[in-house]
Parts: sequence; structure tokens; C-alpha cells
Amino acid sequence: MKKVYLDYAATTSVDPQVLEAMEPYFLEKFGNASSLHAYGQDAKKGLEDSRQILADSIGAKPEEIVFTSGGTESDNSALLGVAYALEKKGNHIITSVIEHHAISEPAKFLEKKGFKVTYLGVDKDGLVSGDDLKKAITDKTILVSIMQANNEIGTIEPIAQLAQIAKGKGICFHTDAVQTFGHIPVDVNELNVDLLSLSAHKFYGPKGVGALYIRKGTRLETFMRGGDQERGRRASTHNVAGIVGCARAIQLCQQNLETEIKFQSALRDKLIREIPLKVPEVRLNGHPAKRLPNNVNFSIKYIEGESMLLSLDMLGIAVSTGSACTSSSLEPSHVLLAIGLDHETAHGSLRITLGRWTTERDIDYLLEKLPPVVEKLRAMSPLYERKNP
Ligand code: PLP
Repeated sequence: MKKVYLDYAATTSVDPQVLEAMEPYFLEKFGNASSLHAYGQDAKKGLEDSRQILADSIGAKPEEIVFTSGGTESDNSALLGVAYALEKKGNHIITSVIEHHAISEPAKFLEKKGFKVTYLGVDKDGLVSGDDLKKAITDKTILVSIMQANNEIGTIEPIAQLAQIAKGKGICFHTDAVQTFGHIPVDVNELNVDLLSLSAHKFYGPKGVGALYIRKGTRLETFMRGGDQERGRRASTHNVAGIVGCARAIQLCQQNLETEIKFQSALRDKLIREIPLKVPEVRLNGHPAKRLPNNVNFSIKYIEGESMLLSLDMLGIAVSTGSACTSSSLEPSHVLLAIGLDHETAHGSLRITLGRWTTERDIDYLLEKLPPVVEKLRAMSPLYERKNP
């Protein structure tokens, strides 16, 4: 059976060149990067070269990079770290209603601990407004955290503009760049952010590795204690092989960025154009233009996203109904509800995300298989029957 992977926003496979770069760090260069002997120094060189590659790629200095275990740890560290470092200054945090749970859950935790959190709403395309941010800021606001692009609907937020508003008031700004880094240009100075999270498995690097960019002078409480790795900001023996893989993945993304953006947006636009022609009563979710080059998200009325996902899976096509982290829950996506969809429409959403190995034949295969799947499911749907007796 033909197999087509169209769930790159959930995770990517490791690029074979990444695996090749990592291999020596499992075998001959396996030392602990904190050890003084030659094994340790080989590992340390791999670690520090990787830090330089990452720093250069986002316009940062190497000492502003802390390697972590992934996007969730970076997001948690940013939110909890700033909250606890600045609690004497203020107890108010601003974020948005469409953040990943790696931000919204620590935000809820902080609320239980006495912090106040404002969750900014978004418009029908998923955009956060600068005016709303201005209105939400108080003299107790210590942190604003808004994602650079949403993982479900692909909308790209106006981060530079939002960060300018916060920075103008001396407020620290964090962005979750887990879905953007490696897919669109990301530069911490152009974005004007103090903190930025990224995760290697979203851009053809290994799982379990990520980083948090921390602008010099930003105060952050450490919550991984036990060693002086990462200048005491994150204890634990370095995952050198993973970090080297992350850096190699960054180099490959830099080399391929322009071509991949062009190729993937053309395939994305083909899906956005043709799905509504082949499947009646669908709605594109996310901004029509300000969206990730690899993201397509449609609500397909009268049927359940999960039934579509499973039917397509039986035909060898892997897609998602929203974020992989919430797809086991029966609650409709908080992002789709936030852009104004009713529960019924939100339940019928399909996220198709493209990547380095997506071909036009893959897209054509989906365009061939999706319409009969929808037709079959609608024929069994009481909702559809009620609308079309
Ligand atoms: N933030 C966003 C926007 C994501 O899409 C994800 C993963 O899906 C995360 C954070 C969490 O990243 P990780 O899986 O590396 O912990």
C-alpha cells in the first residue's frame, strides 16, 4: 500500500545527514561534556560548535542559548522562570487563548500560585491584536508570551509588532517558535524577543532536544538544579548526540529554506484551492495568507475528524485532526473554538502538514482519496441527513 505522511507538524523523521552527524557521539565521542579528559573535551567541542551554529542561525550569542529536552521544557522554563524571577516586580502575565498546552498549562499552574493571567482572544483567522495587548498591559505585567505560529491552523502572529508594544513598557517577551523554526526565517533581533523556544524534532532533528534563547540580561529562575551545566541555568548531563543532531538539522534547514518554502507553499496552495472544489461544505481554518508554508487545516462539515483520520490511515495517509497532544481527547480543539467555530464544525477538522519529503504525487493521492472518504462518512452521518433530507 502507498504510504503518505502528511503530519509533519506533529513530528518529522530525522534527516539521514543528521543521523550521520550524530553517530560518532554515540560511539567514539561518547564522553560527558563536563569531563576534563579527551573524551569529555571531544564531546564539549561538539556541544559548543552546535551552540554556535544555533546562535548564528537566530542572530544570538552562544551564551544566550540553553539546550533543553524540547519545546515543552523550553516553554515551561520561560513562563515559570520569568514568573518566579520577577514576582516581586509584578504578578501579571499575558498570553493568548491559542497557545500550545506547553504554555497554557504552566500558565494555569501559575494562576493557582497567585499569579494573574490574561488570555488574549484572536480574530476569525487566529490573529492576536496589538490593541488588545495594549489594553491588557498593567503596571504589574512582567511577561507576554505569544506563539510565533499556531501548530493547528498555521497562522503566523505579528510577533515583532506585539513585542515592540511589550518592550516599550519594559516587559519581557517570549515566543514559542516550535512550529516556525526551520520552516520560516527566525531572527531574535528582527522579532525583538527576549526568549524563544524551539524543538529539534519539528525540523528533521531528533526528539527530546530543544533550546531556549534567553537574551542577555533577562532574569530567569532555574528549576533544573543539580549541576552547573549550561552556566547553571539547566542542570543534567548534556545530550551531546542530540544537540549535535539539532545543529546539523539547523544547517540543513538553512541550506534548504528558500526552496522548501517555495515548494511546500505551492503544494499547500494546491490543496487549499482543490479541496473545496472536490469536497462541498468545507471551511479553511487559519489566515489565508499569513500562514505557515506547510500547513493546511479544513473543517469538513457533518463528520468527525477522527473518523476521517482513521479512514485515511487505512488508505496509508497520515494526517491529524488538530494537535497530536490533544487528539486522544474528545474535547474539540481550543484553537478552533477560539476562532469562532461551533463545536460541531470544530469536531470535523483535518490538519494536513507537509515537509521535506512531500511530493506532488502525495498531494494528488490525498486529493484522490479524500472525496470518497468524506462522501462515505457523510452518507452515514445523521447530521448530514438532517441538512440534506
Ligand atoms: N509548542 C508548540 C507550538 C508545539 O507544536 C509543540 C509540539 O507539538 C510544543 C510546543 C512541544 O514541543 P515538544 O514536543 O518538543 O515538547
